[in-house]
Amino acid sequence: MNNKIYMYCLRREKLKIIFNKSNYSSIKEIINDNFFIAETHSSEVNKEEKSEIEYKFQNNELNILFSTPTLEMGIDIGGLNIVFMQGVPPLPSNFAQRAGRAGRKDDKTALIITLCDDISYHDMYYFQNPKDMIDGVINPPNFQNDNFELGKKHLNAFIYQIHDFNNKEMLINEVTKAFGSFNKEEINNYIKNTDFYKLLGKSVYNLYEDNTFPDYSFRRDEVKVYELEALGKSKKEKEVYEISSREPELACKEYKPGDIKYMSGSIYKLVDHETCYKMVDTLLGEARQYKEIYAKEAKGYISRNDSTISSSPEELIKYIDKEEILRKTKEDLINIEYHREIELQFIDLEDYKNKDSIMYYCGPTAQVLKRQAILISYNMDIMTYETMISFVALINNAIKELYGLDDSEIKIIHDEREKVFVLYDANGNKNIDLKKIFSNISNILSYGYNKVKNCDCKEINGCYICMKNYSLNRYSALLNKVKAYKIAGYWLGKNRLPIDIKITEDYGDIYDIDINISVKQDRVEFSYENNIITEKIDKQMQNEAVFNGLIKVLNNLDEDIEYVKISSKSKYIVDGINGEANISKSNSTFSKYNFISLKYKNIYGEKV
Ligand SMILES: [Zn+2]
Repeated sequence: MNNKIYMYCLRREKLKIIFNKSNYSSIKEIINDNFFIAETHSSEVNKEEKSEIEYKFQNNELNILFSTPTLEMGIDIGGLNIVFMQGVPPLPSNFAQRAGRAGRKDDKTALIITLCDDISYHDMYYFQNPKDMIDGVINPPNFQNDNFELGKKHLNAFIYQIHDFNNKEMLINEVTKAFGSFNKEEINNYIKNTDFYKLLGKSVYNLYEDNTFPDYSFRRDEVKVYELEALGKSKKEKEVYEISSREPELACKEYKPGDIKYMSGSIYKLVDHETCYKMVDTLLGEARQYKEIYAKEAKGYISRNDSTISSSPEELIKYIDKEEILRKTKEDLINIEYHREIELQFIDLEDYKNKDSIMYYCGPTAQVLKRQAILISYNMDIMTYETMISFVALINNAIKELYGLDDSEIKIIHDEREKVFVLYDANGNKNIDLKKIFSNISNILSYGYNKVKNCDCKEINGCYICMKNYSLNRYSALLNKVKAYKIAGYWLGKNRLPIDIKITEDYGDIYDIDINISVKQDRVEFSYENNIITEKIDKQMQNEAVFNGLIKVLNNLDEDIEYVKISSKSKYIVDGINGEANISKSNSTFSKYNFISLKYKNIYGEKV
């Protein structure tokens, strides 16, 4: 028996290996059992290599496969003995797909191991309640059949096969034969008013690429990294040079020229090229938007410390289409709006990359997306962020359940400046009709209200059945199920507005001293009152300089100073001071800073 091990790894750096032994009947089996012949299968492995790996695994030339969810659907890799998962999958359907790979053939037994991470709320929830995942509810795929935008794509594909696009009468007849009287008026108008020669006169490849044909809700707008050799080649020719890709929301932070990354089995340095970005105007100034980025192989190694900080990019919205806005309000305390189009801006202001041997100017980067969206805003004098994120979680869960949507199809961001939560169509391919969802908001709230109120989970922040969600994992600790259904109940007129008290003391603008931190190429400057102190950046250790300098400044302040404000242009410094970013590089200096900061009544960071 060949023992094949198959691993899903959500975090690539945390791979573990398990060993499995059995009785042998041939030398090949002994080799197979005692030697690990492993390969990696992920989106960062190019297509040709991937199919070779699949072939080898099927034919027992490999016995371990490390994989990201790329292997989840549609790829035949034969029978397996062991499935090992690093982290709990998002949904029971993902679990079934992954676990179901084992024990398919004549093997009588299969072993499925899931490692749960104790810092993940999602993992810990299912560790306590494994049945909810292993035997959880699997919703069949679903779509809004009254969403005409989606229907159009199917019509386009149907009409494409007919060829004679001029004879509109005939087209209407053929379509009626196939689709019946469903949406008849809308369909007939669409056929009459569309120039199909113009619309469909492209290669099939392009028709899928530009969203004319129906797709699988995969993202079409990912930012791709190509090997430098691909420069100047056509989109299709470039495919074989693709070594990595990210959704734009993350790419603005993760793909910056000068970065050194581990991609597709090698170490690469991202390089700048004037053809791959355009300058965009953002609410925080000009920034480069990379549609694609190039990389060349680099020597050396990447240490764990190269991931300096892990704060998210700034998330802002810009209103661009004031024409088509629908609005519902509850006494002006909570507003829910539908916008046909808004601009989502993901901005990273970090100017320099110092991960390489030299400082590299990369400039601010941004990704700008245009999307239909549902906006939820609130009166921040009356309600806290924690209460509102709970309410948003209730809505999010109810929408996804009622419309059978996948967790990744609607994304949520919070614009801190506008105090607005934005639920948007992640793919931007209009497969989801948010306008119809918006018009149904009362039913959605009513469904969510009953679901959360009647859920028998004991935890105050709810469970994965009533309001938690994989995509909202980062907010899990803030959620409060009572507040969530009480706000929904208030909207529906079932109860009064719950009293909301801000737990954290708000010091507002109270400060005795304002210390400004400015990061230059080779030094960090601290200015306060009439002093300027500089700290040299040694060996690109920027964090070291920031927090060492700050310690010196704090140690020299007058004894009677109690409230300190620290202002800076760098988001990561401000986030670090406010406890919102994880400073991993120079961790010991940061700890020392935290210790010294304890002697003040309050220290807060403010971005300028
Ligand atoms: Zn619950």
